[in-house]
Amino acid sequence: MTRRGWLHGLAAVPAALGAQVQRPRIVVEEVTLRLKHTWTTTMSSSDERRNVFLRHTRDGITGIGEGAPIVRYGENAYQARDAAESLISTLGHENPLAYVDYLREAFRRLTGQYAARAAIDISTMDWVGQKHGIPLYRLFGLDPAKAPITTFSIGIDKPEVVRQKVREAEVFPVLKIKVGLDNDEETIGAVRAETDKPLRVDANEGWKDKETALRKIRWLESQGVEIVEQPMPAEMIEETRWLRGRVNIPLMADEACRSITDIPKLAEAYDAVNVKLSKSGGMCEAYKMLQLARSYGMKTMIGCMIESSVGITAAAHVSPLTDWADLDGNLLIANDPYRGVTVENGKLVLPEGPGLGVRPA
Ligand code: MG
Repeated sequence: MTRRGWLHGLAAVPAALGAQVQRPRIVVEEVTLRLKHTWTTTMSSSDERRNVFLRHTRDGITGIGEGAPIVRYGENAYQARDAAESLISTLGHENPLAYVDYLREAFRRLTGQYAARAAIDISTMDWVGQKHGIPLYRLFGLDPAKAPITTFSIGIDKPEVVRQKVREAEVFPVLKIKVGLDNDEETIGAVRAETDKPLRVDANEGWKDKETALRKIRWLESQGVEIVEQPMPAEMIEETRWLRGRVNIPLMADEACRSITDIPKLAEAYDAVNVKLSKSGGMCEAYKMLQLARSYGMKTMIGCMIESSVGITAAAHVSPLTDWADLDGNLLIANDPYRGVTVENGKLVLPEGPGLGVRPA
């Protein structure tokens, strides 16, 4: 950890809190997560990711949060850390138990920087849950028995590597396959040579016109594919609406679904949304987005980036709100520094401890 990473909040105790509380100590650091396999989508290819972790300690309790900067939105770990550190003195002056106002005040001072927001939000909620002595799913009023199964994701690769990855994912009942290139048929063929499990596909905006997307999806309908995620570029809302009227598989928005204000227009073109904490800025924003999407009659998925068990467990705590989950980012890395949510025969099993319920690996 760099010396610069150690910074201290300069808080006076808020009068409204009454009782004495310790001055908080907030630590932000960048951590490199190493991937087990090179991870390739239509967007990029990488062997490691650099995420931001934030530890917030006061009253003898440490809450931890994580944010995964998303290159698609112009974010990186250095800027995310800088943004989180810029809020330290502000956070020190507020009362995190009143987390709605606390987070609103923090984010009012942050333009963009959703990974930083996620790290702040998750660490705050972990602290609040521990302070109350309850797991976060209970704080959000959710039933852990309703946590969905999670897909396991297979990145773009050579057919023989795709087949190997499918074999390694034997315990997962549903797979998510990255497509969006000219060789999609070859990729799906490699998967189908190994398994007849239900498949979900994610084109990551890779099909650039509606005729290509229609042709691809019509073929995928014959291959046991049950969801198509982000078939075309995010801005192609009108073309996606055209596409939806011509296919029988639900279309899900991911890159097009950034914030809660996106959802009303997405409801006109998509059947479902994929909400991610690092994309939208944390658990509280994700909770609101999932509720709003449901009120529009949309199906919902909670997804992730390449993240440790901190970010994945945070997402898992709101997963009982969703129809589907794609929370495998921690399973794709070789050096997860934490343990939290587990997977049993594909189903997410939430930890029982207070807050996030994560512990060092
Ligand atoms: Mg996606």
